[in-house]
Amino acid sequence: MTRLPLLDRARYERALRMASAARPAKGPAERAAGAPPLTDRFGRRITYLRLSVTDRCNLRCEYCAPVSSGAFAPKPDILLDDEIVEVLSTLVGLGLEKVRFTGGEPLVRPGFARLVRRVRDEARVPLLCLSTNGIQLEEQAEDLLAAGIERFNVSIDTLDPERFRAVTRGGDLSRVLRGIDRLFALGVPKLKVNAVLMRGVNDDEVEAFARLTLERPISVRFIELMPLAHCGEVHDERYVPSQVVLSALARLGPLEPVERALHDGPAVCYRLPGAPGTIGVISPVSEASFCDRCNRVRLSATGELKLCLFGDEYVDLREILRGERAPGDLEAALARAMDLKPEKMAGFSGFTMMAIGG
Ligand code: SAM
Repeated sequence: MTRLPLLDRARYERALRMASAARPAKGPAERAAGAPPLTDRFGRRITYLRLSVTDRCNLRCEYCAPVSSGAFAPKPDILLDDEIVEVLSTLVGLGLEKVRFTGGEPLVRPGFARLVRRVRDEARVPLLCLSTNGIQLEEQAEDLLAAGIERFNVSIDTLDPERFRAVTRGGDLSRVLRGIDRLFALGVPKLKVNAVLMRGVNDDEVEAFARLTLERPISVRFIELMPLAHCGEVHDERYVPSQVVLSALARLGPLEPVERALHDGPAVCYRLPGAPGTIGVISPVSEASFCDRCNRVRLSATGELKLCLFGDEYVDLREILRGERAPGDLEAALARAMDLKPEKMAGFSGFTMMAIGG
């Protein structure tokens, strides 16, 4: 198996050396007195984990995934349900408040709803969220709600079925839309739709997405295309800055800013007059202060706790979980890992969202 750059130990160790040379690490003792254990060296409290439960996906979005499945991790390397539950219980004990299940596509992990239920009942994570491409949502919606998912993000880059088929390399938009209908029919009060706008692909659809927010309590968020592994070459040509989206939105009518609520992410959102839903932008590429309010870390399907989506810093939790250890070792490793979180993203590198979890 080709090891992805992100998982390469030599790179990791080099990154660690560079991080400590550039910024002498403040040890836990130097943190503000009484700071919760999941606080980084820059005073940011980490309350949110994005948990990739698989690196497999049933779509092959052209800017996200390789065409073939050659780079997937061997199945024995994927964390088991018991291991995930143990990590999450420990993190909750340290102050974690929210988990988002992601991937790959979380709904393709066998027994996914069973895992969610265990995370709720045994790890007692206060808020459980899901990012999905929606392809299997119609079939699984009821089980997911019963298991404890409270917030749903559905990724849809275009509302045109033919374009959808092209961008996802074969996906069926009608299945995704039926999944959304099913959630509303089951009483979900609101949900989010995430779209990556790309020049010449779907950048003429701002109005069509905005219309969704007029009809139902859907929060549409346009995410800037990031120059990751599978869109590197076309990034410059396709990238649409949030500012362009905001100008297009402003042409639709007066926009009312929406205040950020607790647990809201980095989106800046607005409401069109009378709309039950909201529309906004997430700007990882163009917004200079994006990192200041970062409250999250990521756990890959194979157990790497990544401190920043755009950095090399990680701790191999699988090694700890499957190795010899004393009581308290996992807890100590998790608290220490916060010292590796960089102040700012180092720049975009050659990884794929599928490998880490978007
Ligand atoms: N399969 C799930 C889904 O579709 O939501 C979860 C994983 S997917 C990798 C998460 C999100 O990452 C998707 O909304 C996808 O559009 C986004 N994504 C992937 N590559 C990206 C890139 N280069 N720039 C911006 N967003 C990207």
